[in-house]
Amino acid sequence: MKFHRAILVYLGSIVLPVCGLVWLGVQSFERQRQALDTLRAEKLAAEMQTREQASAEMALTQWRGPIARYFFRIEGGVVVQPALAAGLPDPMPPEFQEAQRHEDSNQSELALEAYRKLFQSGKRPALALRGVARTLAKLGRAEEARTEWEMLAVKYPDERDPAHRPYGIVAAMAAGKTDGLYEKISAGKWELSADQAEYFLAQLDPKRTSAYLNQFHFARALEEQFRPQGEPHEGQLYRYAFSDYRVFYRSAGPDRIEGLAVNEEWVRETLRPQVELEIGGAGAVQQEAAIYGGAIALVLVVLSAGIALLLRDATREAHTSRLRSDFVSGVSHELKTPITLIRLYGDTLIERPELGAKERSDFYRIIVRESERLTRLVNQVLTFSRVERGVEQYNMEVGDLAPAVAHMIDDYAEYLQTAGFTLRRELAESLPQVRFDATAVLQAVANLLDNAVKYSGESREITVRLSSREGSAVFEVEDHGFGIPTAEQQKIFERFYRVNGSGKGGYGLGLFLVRHIMTAHGGRVEVESEPGGGSRFRLVFPVVS
Ligand code: ADP
Repeated sequence: MKFHRAILVYLGSIVLPVCGLVWLGVQSFERQRQALDTLRAEKLAAEMQTREQASAEMALTQWRGPIARYFFRIEGGVVVQPALAAGLPDPMPPEFQEAQRHEDSNQSELALEAYRKLFQSGKRPALALRGVARTLAKLGRAEEARTEWEMLAVKYPDERDPAHRPYGIVAAMAAGKTDGLYEKISAGKWELSADQAEYFLAQLDPKRTSAYLNQFHFARALEEQFRPQGEPHEGQLYRYAFSDYRVFYRSAGPDRIEGLAVNEEWVRETLRPQVELEIGGAGAVQQEAAIYGGAIALVLVVLSAGIALLLRDATREAHTSRLRSDFVSGVSHELKTPITLIRLYGDTLIERPELGAKERSDFYRIIVRESERLTRLVNQVLTFSRVERGVEQYNMEVGDLAPAVAHMIDDYAEYLQTAGFTLRRELAESLPQVRFDATAVLQAVANLLDNAVKYSGESREITVRLSSREGSAVFEVEDHGFGIPTAEQQKIFERFYRVNGSGKGGYGLGLFLVRHIMTAHGGRVEVESEPGGGSRFRLVFPVVS
């Protein structure tokens, strides 16, 4: 009951409030962490903006840089780069007009002649070669035409026809030499308008799509959705976002804008981690979390230890109080036997004067023996009480144990004999000097002998030995009784401890006192025992050197 109350008090007065505090602590830590996170996110956003701006400025100045996915120019509101349309065709140069006229009026032979001459004259050879190839084709001389186209593609790949189309593309396509052309266009070998790029790539492989075309999607989106407000100020960088794009732009002269679309992948994978690393902060939050976590764990460990200690104390308390009540009933019971016997024989002696001398003397002896037993019991309880209070005192004197012990054994032998025991004595006549308190030692010896009698069972033989060995004087009592289980052999020296089922009256103090006495003498008590085979108890005294 008391135990349950202690647990409840502990739970109510310590565990609950502490759990409450821990909970509050966790809450406040969580709030603090959120605040720190927000702060950090704001700082990161501000820093990212500055860094993006700086990168964009540099990229626009050098017209290259990792932040730029596409560059663009807008002139008079029209996106000129990446160009959407190719622009108007160039007019034919004057020296080509005659050949052109022949061609237009289907006089292909004359036109061919004229273009060949122009080619030989070395003026605009690529344009002349284009005329030659075209007229050959019109005359149905396909094979020759292909040779000319091929030459044009190989010799003048970067020159353009009047419609601004590179010969590297158009002539190669006319010659049917299109291997690798798709890749070259996709790699951006020629600067093309959206119309051209889309047209050529669709011609070459309608099923394929190329990331190269994305810049034209961007250019279209730019033209449709980019609406900067007013005229940008000279030297200032602006930002704008539309559909999936973020752009930086600035003025590049009157009615001209240049800018770039942000390469989000680079920002996400390179710039942001770099800035995050520079800002730091995540580490501090983690460190704080670790400290909080550690503190909470510590509190919980201390609490658990408290509960464990409380439980242990409570269990011990319960155990001791049970032992105490056993002790009280044990002592009362032990006292009852001698008192009853004394009373019984006393009454008989008074009431029956006719009893013979022999019987009377037997009865007197019993009364004396029982009073002695009573005295021993009371003395033992009193000694125990002094030991418990720490006030037991010993009067140590240096001397020979042998005569004192022999005397005691003589007295005891008579009692043993009446109880039907055979006592063997193997006692040395004298021993090396030891320091001892005679009364205490005799009490210890008596306790061992009492136990030997009590726990002998059917056996009726007890041996006592007194000898010296390796700097000690040793007294030993051997019986052939119940013996003691190995697991109990050390516990029997604890106070109130009794082996279950030993049955005989007793209250578990004898061996406790024996050990106390031996410790006070600087010696020890040893036990050797085998369940069912008897026991040997030994008192070992150090010899005075
Ligand atoms: P008590 O004899 O009053 O019970 P002790 O402290 O003298 O108390 O002994 C403790 C326990 O040790 C006994 O209850 C008994 O079980 C065991 N014991 C002591 N001496 C012997 C012995 N010689 N043989 C068997 N058991 C013994």
